[in-house]
Amino acid sequence: MHFQSNICVIGNGAVGKAAALGFAQAGLSVTLLCPPHPIVGSAGNADDWDVRVYALNHVAHQLLSSLKVWQALDGARVAPVDAMMVKGDGEQAGKLAFDAYGARTGALAWIVEDSNLNRALDAALRFAPNLRTVTGRATRLHTDQQAATVQLENDDVIEASLVVGADGAQSWVRGQCDIGLDYRSYGQRAIVTNFECDKPHQGVAYQWFAATDGIVALLPLPGQRVSLVWSAPEALAHSLVDGGAAHLAERASVLSEYRLGRLRPLQPAMVKDFPLTLLRPHAIVAPRVALVGDAAHVVHPLAGQGMNLGFADVAALMQTVAGRESYRDCGDERVLGRYARARKEDIFLMQLATDGLERLFSTDFEPLRVARNIGLNLVDKLPVIKRALISHAMGKR
Ligand SMILES: Cc1cc2nc3c(=O)[nH]c(=O)nc-3n(C[C@H](O)[C@H](O)[C@H](O)COP(=O)(O)OP(=O)(O)OC[C@H]3O[C@@H](n4cnc5c(N)ncnc54)[C@H](O)[C@@H]3O)c2cc1C
Repeated sequence: MHFQSNICVIGNGAVGKAAALGFAQAGLSVTLLCPPHPIVGSAGNADDWDVRVYALNHVAHQLLSSLKVWQALDGARVAPVDAMMVKGDGEQAGKLAFDAYGARTGALAWIVEDSNLNRALDAALRFAPNLRTVTGRATRLHTDQQAATVQLENDDVIEASLVVGADGAQSWVRGQCDIGLDYRSYGQRAIVTNFECDKPHQGVAYQWFAATDGIVALLPLPGQRVSLVWSAPEALAHSLVDGGAAHLAERASVLSEYRLGRLRPLQPAMVKDFPLTLLRPHAIVAPRVALVGDAAHVVHPLAGQGMNLGFADVAALMQTVAGRESYRDCGDERVLGRYARARKEDIFLMQLATDGLERLFSTDFEPLRVARNIGLNLVDKLPVIKRALISHAMGKR
């Protein structure tokens, strides 16, 4: 079969689905290529709480609202973040606190489960005009002046003016374009699970920088529940996962200084872990190709920004394609150059901030420990800097 469309999106994670939906709703014809064996979500049955959750910022909220996806989320399972509390380490631990009131906004972010997000995206995709979903494995990508051609394993062919690579950190599309890559393993794994807590969290997202124990975040879920993201050094991570959910809850209760009382596992079987890396491709565009989401950048989850960056990529790509001159097609070199320029600063700053914070807080060197805690306290007392930081995290400029 020979499929022809304006845009071919490769990859059906949340970022790829949002891109396919956005272009289809904008009146372009879209082919969404999904892999033959999709990754199954991490929620067991519908009543379980998904251990994969995202803190989505205002850019994500805006994009998903404009696509009518936010309205399709199960709102009862979305938790607004009203405040954030970041704590340093050691006896003189610094503290940094933000709240929505101080940032002059209704919520700093929203915690959304992966399954809730994907269900809403899938529902919207079913009603999208001009959109065809193809399941298969791409084996070759060829581009020339006229079009990009994606060859599939079963000899089907997808032809498009623009290929959007939304196929995650190990991007096949990026590999086909010979785009170089800086890679750094953090030597850490992020452990995720959900807890019930004794005390109400009051919409506060907590984060503790615990030096050699890593970084522990407790994100609010609806009711008296929280989601744990613990970025721990490899050896500790393995022992925490092997120890099981009850042991993990005990360790997290102590590390969080019983701020929310005793933590108890919500679904004992649901503990997952992910390796953490920094991935910096040397370019996010190539002839007739644009990369979005983790295909374009992978950052440490300490700031909860990877998905947000991906949605910001989609918004920027949609905007540059929509704003192109009438004589240029969607994959025109100039259009892609504008997309790359539009995203450069945002991606660079987020890579710098997350990587820098991880390096700063992962060392045990005493002078640095003192300096970072003083730094936290100092920023906490400087409203202008604090507002600038929180605006950036929210995706507001
Ligand atoms: C522990 C942890 C916590 C996080 N928390 C947050 C947070 O709070 N907020 C936030 O913004 N971000 C967060 N992130 C980052 C976020 O998870 C990622 O940035 C985001 O999931 C990337 O989405 P994606 O769609 O680009 O990639 P993926 O989710 O990896 O999706 C890629 C898709 O492409 C498909 N695919 C792969 N290869 C092919 C192929 N050859 N052909 C077709 N399809 C293919 C895959 O099946 C997959 O569906 C967190 C990450 C971790 C590890």
